[in-house]
Amino acid sequence: MIPPKALYDYLIVGSGLFGSVFAHEAYKAGKRCLVIEKRAHIGGNIYCEEINGINVHKYGAHIFHTDNDKTWEYVNQLVKFNRYTNSPIANYKGKLYNLPFNMNTFYQLWGVRTPQEAMDKINEQRNEFAHIIKPKNLEEQALKLCGKDIYERLIKGYTEKQWGRAATELPTFIINRIPFRLTFDNNYFNDPYQGIPIGGYNKLISALLEGIEVKTNTDFLKHRTEFSSIAKKILYTGCIDEYFDHRFGNLEYRSLRFEHICIDDTANYQGNAVVNYCEREIPYTRIIEHKHFEFGTQPFTVITREYPDSFETGKEPYYPINDNKNNLLFKNYQELANQQTQTLFGGRLAQYTYADMDDTITAALELWRNLGEK
Ligand code: FAD
Repeated sequence: MIPPKALYDYLIVGSGLFGSVFAHEAYKAGKRCLVIEKRAHIGGNIYCEEINGINVHKYGAHIFHTDNDKTWEYVNQLVKFNRYTNSPIANYKGKLYNLPFNMNTFYQLWGVRTPQEAMDKINEQRNEFAHIIKPKNLEEQALKLCGKDIYERLIKGYTEKQWGRAATELPTFIINRIPFRLTFDNNYFNDPYQGIPIGGYNKLISALLEGIEVKTNTDFLKHRTEFSSIAKKILYTGCIDEYFDHRFGNLEYRSLRFEHICIDDTANYQGNAVVNYCEREIPYTRIIEHKHFEFGTQPFTVITREYPDSFETGKEPYYPINDNKNNLLFKNYQELANQQTQTLFGGRLAQYTYADMDDTITAALELWRNLGEK
């Protein structure tokens, strides 16, 4: 039931990008808003912890990129972006390769120098697995798409660590296609716009939430009755199964563990923001050196080793496992969500989906627009 004398028009549960964009729009339209956040800080997973002037991406490396002119304009009204271009390096048994797979990578793998030589080599590698007509698992799928060298050095170990399972036990849909770039271009994204907000992501969230009342360390689910009575409408951006007390069962996720290390006597640890570690024997998947996102010149550095982890209560839910079983479970929760009159659901946790930041912004703006509020 919608409380007749509510203090707020909107209670926004969660101060991540989705909740913050929605709150920004509602506030701009003159709505009385309260944002509550169970963590000690705002920003959700794009939050950065500042360590001696270096913005440390606490919940995983975030690089903003988009092909959407309107979304790019939207974020640029709030903050300016630097010219950071994501060009990760892969380390396999001490040898370095450029990503995404491009002419530099093919030269490093095989010594080929022209696009024709590279294509001939790729086809030769693939032909070895031409007998695989209908791949049964990720390993067969990848071998069919790119052959043995790329698969074994740059895909197998990394993917197995990421999912915590052997590639022969992983479904094919994880890798639908493997793009090959026949130019010497290490820019990971194809989008026309990318960068990091100057001063870090906290600036973006602060700009979105400027003027809006925010309460951190406040878990909606622990005070559900009280909070439901103070607002006409609620936007909930937390886990959808938690909202409904897991009544159909738990949605599954893959989690991550981060080991942040300050290195006082080193100004430049790895010369790049992102280095992937592709062999199975090294337990982490990547090392992030945060200062490179913002071209930092400090005489010290901060690195983070990223370890894939199983998910259980108390750990952060990072990647939804969108297999048939979980997608069906989510549908049940979604049907319940659709019946709610006071509460709207949005964001990656309530929609049980992976969404890049630009798509998160677009979805939040669309939800707001569809409400038709004046
Ligand atoms: P979140 O950021 O998770 O925000 C939800 C908020 O709700 C959280 O702060 C949470 O604490 C709060 N909350 C939950 N339950 C409650 C409750 N009961 N009460 C109060 N508060 C609650 N996108 C890119 O475009 N580029 C990248 O490079 C990129 N890298 C990524 C790396 C990783 C490891 C991951 C997992 C994602 C990455 N993304 C990237 C995606 C990006 O993180 C998301 O698009 C974005 O953070 C989603 O925002 P959100 O608000 O939906 O969710």
